[in-house]
Amino acid sequence: MTRLELRAVRRTYPGGLEVLRGIDLDIHSGERFVLLGASGSGKSTLLRVIAGLDAPDAGDVYLDGQSMTGVPAERRDLGLVFQQPLLFPHLSVEGNLRFGLRHRKLPEVEVTARVADMLVRTGLDGLGPRRPNQLSGGQEGRVALARALITRPRALLLDEPLSALDAPLRRELREWIVTLQRATGTTLLLVTHDQEEALAVAQRIGFLHGGHLQQVGTPQEIYARPATVDVARFFGALN
Ligand code: ADP
Ligand code: MG
Repeated sequence: MTRLELRAVRRTYPGGLEVLRGIDLDIHSGERFVLLGASGSGKSTLLRVIAGLDAPDAGDVYLDGQSMTGVPAERRDLGLVFQQPLLFPHLSVEGNLRFGLRHRKLPEVEVTARVADMLVRTGLDGLGPRRPNQLSGGQEGRVALARALITRPRALLLDEPLSALDAPLRRELREWIVTLQRATGTTLLLVTHDQEEALAVAQRIGFLHGGHLQQVGTPQEIYARPATVDVARFFGALN
């Protein structure tokens, strides 16, 4: 479990678009936090900065109080799942999970044990030999999450992992994400533009708009007492 902090994080894209204008954020160890905002509000940019896939122009990211400035993505020990879960089509489910561990230099027995454990935890028991094209959409989503979790990351960063799925499947998988997060206690940062998803998953929500985190609070606080007109508008309280 890992505490995640952002201090005065700024990111301007070449051409002058200032997407993040000084973001301060504290995500608690073991918390389920949802970053919510309209399309284009900078959610993916923020996630990429945390993951180390993009460098901020100013400010710092800290994991358990340690600055990540200069620490490359692969040494941050974070589990990432993006919008299109990119499973390797030529590898079996088991092969996809093993792939996540390829740099870990673990003994073969440990790899085998972790794969078996993760297949059971994610409800994929018996599906290890299947190829991705032999899976349902929901199963594919589970494999993508299992692959991110098998490294036992310090935190799990999910960027709209459900948005390509249809509504019933989205609901099923988001409930399952909550169950899995509770079972593992992994700090979770989920990015979405879907307020219903945010309200269902989050212990706290941060609302990103105009380059700022306009409000951070529990779903009840944000829904009942929007801090800005933009928050109220987003939740449909104003037109
Ligand atoms: P979100 O994930 O909330 O939809 P993004 O972080 O992807 O938002 O993008 C925020 C803004 O930055 C958008 O206007 C987008 O067009 C722009 N943007 C994203 N990536 C780049 C890039 N590599 N270069 C220039 N502009 C970008
Ligand atoms: Mg995005």
